[in-house]
Amino acid sequence: MSDKYSKALEHARYVLDLIAREELDDAQRKQVVEETVSNFREHVNPGFLEYRKSVSTDYTSVEWKDGGSTFTDVWGKEFIDCLGGFGIYNVGHRNPKVLEAVFNQLRRQALHSQELLDPLRGYLAHLLALITPGDLKYAFFVNSGTESIEGALKFARMATGRWHFVATTGGFHGKSLGSLSATAKGVFRKPFQPLLPGFTHIPFGDADAVAKALEAAKFLGQDVAAVILEPIQGEGGIIVPPDDYLPKVRDLCSQYGALLILDEVQTGMGRTGKMFCCEHYNVVPDILCLAKAFGGGVMPIGTFVSRAEIWEKLIENPILHSTTFGGNPVCCAAAIANINVLLEEKLPERAAESGAYLMGALKDLAARYPQVMLEVRGKGLMIGMEFVNNDIGYAVAKGLFARGVLVAGTYINSKTIRIEPPLTISREQMDAVIQRMEDTLVEVAATL
Ligand code: PLP
Repeated sequence: MSDKYSKALEHARYVLDLIAREELDDAQRKQVVEETVSNFREHVNPGFLEYRKSVSTDYTSVEWKDGGSTFTDVWGKEFIDCLGGFGIYNVGHRNPKVLEAVFNQLRRQALHSQELLDPLRGYLAHLLALITPGDLKYAFFVNSGTESIEGALKFARMATGRWHFVATTGGFHGKSLGSLSATAKGVFRKPFQPLLPGFTHIPFGDADAVAKALEAAKFLGQDVAAVILEPIQGEGGIIVPPDDYLPKVRDLCSQYGALLILDEVQTGMGRTGKMFCCEHYNVVPDILCLAKAFGGGVMPIGTFVSRAEIWEKLIENPILHSTTFGGNPVCCAAAIANINVLLEEKLPERAAESGAYLMGALKDLAARYPQVMLEVRGKGLMIGMEFVNNDIGYAVAKGLFARGVLVAGTYINSKTIRIEPPLTISREQMDAVIQRMEDTLVEVAATL
């Protein structure tokens, strides 16, 4: 064996031994931290080290274990997870029922042959047809949010024969070339231009802007294939539109023969207090995109689900759109268990109740510390806190991190900080978050 292969083999054996350990001793912990920092510097991206330095009180904090609503770093420091992987952990970290389904499936078959009919794909598609609103019927499974958007865009083109799209400023739909064309943040788009042609971005929450865009496109002979939006903008800063926005957009789409693609990658699976956010507004999209929490916080799986007509060409030729790993048995097992937990434990309802409690308490803090916090908004457990400026938001995120609460604030934009904990978060954990938030606000207010 060549030198480099023997070295690689020795290294792989060392890491596998680490993975197999329940607990590490202090020397091993120290070694893991040092090796992780060095590996990131040399082989992942040294930029992450600078980024961590700026957002955390301990940039060498290396995550190691998780469960329920918390995770611990390699030294055993526990964090209440209010970032929730930007909305992955709706049923909690490593939910036992999801793990059980995955282990059971793994013991029998992990991936599929790619040729025979695989039963779990069928069962999961059926379950989706049962729980999604209206007449959504067919599901295509993918591995991520961005792939669900790619599929939705392709299918909208295929079904309508049109190729123009209306998207919204502040919208986030992923970073592969197609979804990035719908995503509206310049910093992500600029280095990769030109993106797909035919995208118009209009302000979010403004139904008149949708009407004008659809009318102008028609006048120009550039009929719109689909309007794509998030029912509540997540990455855009938890922007909740007026109540009549989605119903109006739905009517406009029907009027102009455009499809409505709802990106519920972040709002789906109970996050906002209903299984799907569009149910708050009694709106049925033509294509519904899901990912993130869809795999129960254990496996990566996404999907787009749609009405029957949209599938016509794919029925004529089922391999017109395909993916090797999408809808594999282990991921489907996780997604089925996830739906089971969400329904059995009534987690959408729990998100509505917990969200009302947490948001109420945070609003109370905003009223008491107006020099720090301007506003609290959201639906269910998709909550945004708006701070006076970036620096203050960043100081709050940092203060919370030091107190064992992880929130979604970054150096690039910390004016709005997101709170998206597991829907299973307990009252005691929410009270701890509220207390630590107050301590942090006191600390930050004292510096102003
Ligand atoms: N759509 C929305 C609304 C998202 O929030 C995200 C990710 O944050 C995506 C799409 C992209 O998902 P992924 O990162 O799995 O590609």
